[in-house]
Amino acid sequence: MPRRTKIIATLGPATDAPDMLEKIIHAGVDVVRLNFSHGTIENHQQRLTAVRQRAQALGRHVAVMADLQGPKIRIEKFQTGSIQLAEGDAFILDATCPSDAGTQARVGLTYKQLPRDVNTNDTLLLDDGRIVLSVDKVEQAQIFCHVIVGGTLSNNKGINRLGGGLSAETLTHKDRTDLAAAAKMGIDYLAISFPRSAENIHEARRLLQATGSQANIIAKIERAEAVTNHEEIIRAADGIMVARGDLGVEIGDAALPAVQKMLIKKTRDLNKIVITATQMMESMIENPIPTRAEVSDVANAVFDGTDAVMLSAETASGKYPDKAVTAMDRVCREAEKQPVTRLSDHRLALHFGRIDEAIAMATMYTANHLDVKAIVSLTESGSTPLWMSRISSGIPIYAFSRHLDTCQKVTLYRGVYPVHLDLATFDTIEVNHAVLNTLKSTGAVSNGDLVIITKGDLKGIAGGTNLMKVVCVGEEKSMI
Ligand code: PGA
Ligand code: MN
Repeated sequence: MPRRTKIIATLGPATDAPDMLEKIIHAGVDVVRLNFSHGTIENHQQRLTAVRQRAQALGRHVAVMADLQGPKIRIEKFQTGSIQLAEGDAFILDATCPSDAGTQARVGLTYKQLPRDVNTNDTLLLDDGRIVLSVDKVEQAQIFCHVIVGGTLSNNKGINRLGGGLSAETLTHKDRTDLAAAAKMGIDYLAISFPRSAENIHEARRLLQATGSQANIIAKIERAEAVTNHEEIIRAADGIMVARGDLGVEIGDAALPAVQKMLIKKTRDLNKIVITATQMMESMIENPIPTRAEVSDVANAVFDGTDAVMLSAETASGKYPDKAVTAMDRVCREAEKQPVTRLSDHRLALHFGRIDEAIAMATMYTANHLDVKAIVSLTESGSTPLWMSRISSGIPIYAFSRHLDTCQKVTLYRGVYPVHLDLATFDTIEVNHAVLNTLKSTGAVSNGDLVIITKGDLKGIAGGTNLMKVVCVGEEKSMI
């Protein structure tokens, strides 16, 4: 059985090593992430080109996701590169401090307006919460703090406020430049960092569409306000990422597990896609095997219903990128054997607004209750397999499309596997035969298996699915 949960790997120096890209794709990567917080546009372009070449050579569809840096608020640099802060020390976040002139007493800020957004008694978390400061007072461009939790503080570390609410604009100047460059490269997904509202997503969509790109938009939920506004953000985007790094800092780490479950369920209910990200196999940056806690974390995301699990530094800069992918693959497959991942009461009591949506639901209900080996959706845009994959099931959904970009997009959908094939000139019997022959040739089905095929009367029309047919492999030639 193919793995249903998809694996996203972030590219970086570690995956630039000779043969490493082949190794991670071979190990099961479905989507690669280009992280625009690091590296140059040229780096990302080279990696994208390499991915397209390797995927083709390996006969695989791999989607490419560009992840914009967003308005991450950071301290600037120290004269000495880093300082040591001890509990009780006084320290000033100083928007007037020159960018490389930080000292034991103060450091500069990338976002000069930060002092306007901060109040006395706020808790500020630096370096993903490793350093904790409490605000004593704010005077013009200076935030006077004392240290609650000390440690080493080095150049360019991020700043978050406990409870959220820092107001830097979502799409920065750099984001806009990167968005245009990424669109030109031909990405499949664009991830927006730190959105606060649906409007941030609409704006990104307008910018993207102005370039002619049809890429899907993933909203990263990593601010407290994004949790508050999650429903409008999910509706505005094509999918979300539960970005647990920054989110854990803003809402407190203890709140994360329940918020993850809520966001995954809500996103699936709204027929959108969801990615679970950050620190999933963190210890594998240094070690060849994961911890038991990491194994449980990945498995639990699968039980929650996530479409994909994501690797960040584990693949981008870790010592064992391919082993991290292999470990995730193993854990997902085992988790998917549990009945909880296969049963569904999703939307049983709901009214459907569209014919193609109703066909998708009827297909999954039938497939889950009859002994069906595979589901086939002949699709233009990928919307029918997306609806199908919102229903928990153990049965593979093969998305046959003549569009390469649709094939790449659906690699992210849980339980959906793309097949790039142009059936537009075939008649009905030929189509069924070609589809079943393709699946037979890969060993996915054999004679006597039941397969459900969905399609539309009008070939080449997106949203036209109006037919579901149960066929027995080997007998399709005698059917109409
Ligand atoms: P990042 O986003 O890796 O771009 O910070 C993910 C997260 O915050 O969890
Ligand atoms: Mn983040």
